[in-house]
Amino acid sequence: MHIDLVTIFPELVHPHLEASLLGKAIQNGSISVRVHDLREKGRGKHRSVDDAPFGGGAGMVMRPEPIFETVEPLKRAESYTVLLSPRGTLFRHEVAQRLSRLDHLILVCGRYEGVDERVAEHLCDEEVSIGDFVLAGGEIAALVIVEAVTRLLPGVLGNPTSLHSESHAAGALEYPQYTRPAEYRGWSVPDVLLSGDHAEVARWRRERSEELTATRRPDLVQE
Ligand code: SAM
Repeated sequence: MHIDLVTIFPELVHPHLEASLLGKAIQNGSISVRVHDLREKGRGKHRSVDDAPFGGGAGMVMRPEPIFETVEPLKRAESYTVLLSPRGTLFRHEVAQRLSRLDHLILVCGRYEGVDERVAEHLCDEEVSIGDFVLAGGEIAALVIVEAVTRLLPGVLGNPTSLHSESHAAGALEYPQYTRPAEYRGWSVPDVLLSGDHAEVARWRRERSEELTATRRPDLVQE
C-alpha cells in the first residue's frame, strides 16, 4: 500500500512516520508514505495557500488551486482520495479495514477555517472525520488514519493474532490484560490467568469482554 499525505505542515507529520511500529513498517516496505508540501504550489512570493471566504465571515479558507495541482499528478486509476474534515464519515474500525484494502490512498489535510468546497466536490472521493470535535488541522487526523490502517496490513504486527481479540475487531471491547508481577501493592492478578487452564482463561476473557462492552459501550452490543 502507498499513502500520499498532502499538508502545509510536513514537519508535523515526519517525526511520527519515523518512530515505532509505523517507522518499522515503512522501513521494511510493508507500506510507503510520501509527504507533499502544499506550499510548493502556493501563490505569490509568500507561497500563499489561503484566502478570505466569499460572502464574508471569520478566518481564511484554503484555495483550491494548490490542492488540485498537488493531488492531480499523484492520482492513478486505483487511487482513493480522502479529505480530512469534521463533517466527514466517522472513522471507525470498519472504515480502517475498508481503507486498508486499498493500493493507493491520498490524504488531504485542511487548515484554517477549512477547504474550498470544490476540493470535496471534484477532487476527493470521501470526507473522513476522526471524531465529533474540531482540530486546528487535518495532520493529526491523517496520522490517526495512517496508524490505524497500517497495523491492519500483513507483516506489520509482530503477532498478527492480536488483531482478532483487540477492541472493535469483533464488535466488542478487549478483556483486561495483566503482566508480572502477579501481586503489586496487594493487588493480585485474577487466579484463573495463572492457572494454566487455557479453556478457563479463554472463558474468563470472553466473559470480561462481554461485560465491559455491555457496560461501557452498549451501542456496540445493539449493532
Ligand atoms: N470550519 C470547519 C468546520 O466547522 O467544519 C473546521 C475547520 S478545522 C479548524 C481545519 C481543518 O482541520 C479541517 O479542514 C480538517 O482538515 C481538519 N479537522 C478538524 N477537525 C477534524 C476532525 N474531527 N476530523 C478530521 N479532520 C479534522
